[in-house]
Amino acid sequence: MPYSLRRLPVFRADVLVVGSGVAGLATALSAAEKGGHVMVLCKGRIADTNTHYAQGGIAAAVGPNDDVELHAGDTLRLGYGISEAQVVEAITAAAPEAMDWLLESGMSFDREPSGNFSLGMEGGHRLPRILHSGGTATGKELQRVLAARAQQHPHIDFYPNTTAVELLKDSEDVVTGLVALTRQGSDGTFNPVLFEANSVVLATGGGGQIFRETTNPQLATADGLAMALRAGAVLQDLEFVQFHPTILYLAGAARFLISEVVRGEGAVLRDRNGVAFMSAFHPDADLAPRDVVSRAIFRRMIEAGDTNVFLDLAKVTNPECRFPGLARIASEFGIQIGADPIPVRPAVHYFVGGVAAALDGSTNVDGLYAVGECASTGFHGANRMGSNSLLEGLVHGRLVGDRILDRKRSVRRFVAPNLPDDHRAPAAELNLTDMTYSLKSLLWRQVGIERDAAGLADAQERLDTWAHYLERLGPFTPEGVEVMNMVQVAQAITRSASFREESRGAHFRSDFPDTDPDWRVHSRLESTGNGLRISPELIPDSPRLHK
Ligand code: FAD
Repeated sequence: MPYSLRRLPVFRADVLVVGSGVAGLATALSAAEKGGHVMVLCKGRIADTNTHYAQGGIAAAVGPNDDVELHAGDTLRLGYGISEAQVVEAITAAAPEAMDWLLESGMSFDREPSGNFSLGMEGGHRLPRILHSGGTATGKELQRVLAARAQQHPHIDFYPNTTAVELLKDSEDVVTGLVALTRQGSDGTFNPVLFEANSVVLATGGGGQIFRETTNPQLATADGLAMALRAGAVLQDLEFVQFHPTILYLAGAARFLISEVVRGEGAVLRDRNGVAFMSAFHPDADLAPRDVVSRAIFRRMIEAGDTNVFLDLAKVTNPECRFPGLARIASEFGIQIGADPIPVRPAVHYFVGGVAAALDGSTNVDGLYAVGECASTGFHGANRMGSNSLLEGLVHGRLVGDRILDRKRSVRRFVAPNLPDDHRAPAAELNLTDMTYSLKSLLWRQVGIERDAAGLADAQERLDTWAHYLERLGPFTPEGVEVMNMVQVAQAITRSASFREESRGAHFRSDFPDTDPDWRVHSRLESTGNGLRISPELIPDSPRLHK
């Protein structure tokens, strides 16, 4: 850090939340409603989040034949033995009440003419239990409602265009704040500032941008995971990176997610010869679980020489009316969705693993908390069930915010090394765009849908070399910090994927294609200062039987 921290301006509050998506805003609101003063940082505008893009909806057992035990049972089944039952029970049980809270906050969910909720169905759920808004605009509505409530709250202050860079600790190794870079105006200049708080909550979302193909927006660079790792926190189950099977794939087009609802309505995946191939991979054919469909597409693309696979909507009734967003985007590229096959590919969608956090949000580092997609509570296990992540962010965020003020501690000043201001500029200049592209391609090729020991070892070696020179040459700018974070988290994912010598849920090893009961463990990774250490931890068993 080329600054003397002692000279920087300092902002203080009880709680500092990094992130303005569902998890960050839910935490901020419940801490503020308990009387705490909260600061919320975000990299761009408040609405620039993964949350804003969520389409399908939020899962909650509110249907007439549903109950929370069924929801818990489905979540555990889709977790492939890695979910923690007590966490699953707590979050699914709190879901119906959390929906009431959203309604009271002004959220509008789609309803049937009868007035009942219109409930969607997604892979893994045995009953329709997905609440949605404006068809596929659930995330936008959720972000709007939470941000409006938080912006009206007198105890919550927002700091947009502010990139958190590094966590700071006091002399007793307690996290007491962080250093950030705030952007000034539109000319791209930025200033370093310090934030201090009793508790620092990471709600920074996922890191899809580490991979070449992703549904995630630009902000998803896994900053929270990298900051936590550098501060000594344990990262858990990072090998479980979930792919979404069907993303619109056209050179130059945004990677638009084509929901599995489209296949639910009769769309069929075909290879370039027009052959419908999914029934060769799974009895449920095109409606097989997401990880199975993603691997099948990937296999077919490789076998056909890396060409596209297509989604055929010929059997979908009135597709332009049913899927207007997709129809609009595809038509811009000359594709009529009812008549023309749509080129699709899988893309990284969700980071199942993250900073190991308990139900109160606490991590192994005193003063540091994690919620939402950047946290790993044990809720999702080895594979996230559709629409369970907005739920987790909301329920976990509210729980964490509710309890975070219980921890009474006066803010101690962090230890600020008195660095000289005359840092020498490195002789070589790094091309960050080239670095990012190389990283994304490497992860996509060797740490993607199918992995094996040789590819992972090679990736690890390259990443170690890159990290080594990035530390010296990477510029201290928001973009430079993002690239450093992405490379460090890529090292952590690669190490975790090499460690787990089996296939389970979202993690597939072609050299260990079976699930091994001995691997019913979390992988727990931490930094030793000059490397990464990884170890297994047994999954606590549930004392209860689930439906
Ligand atoms: P996010 O909503 O991603 O917010 C992250 C926040 O952290 C942002 O404000 C960002 O600016 C901030 N941040 C990050 N780094 C820094 C930094 N260094 N400094 C300051 N701020 C920082 N899930 C469902 O349950 N149902 C769905 O239907 C669904 N559909 C999806 C569709 C798409 C296209 C995508 C991409 C995801 C979807 N998901 C869905 C997943 C879900 O949207 C995310 O898991 C969830 O929104 C994550 O919420 P979050 O609050 O943890 O993080």
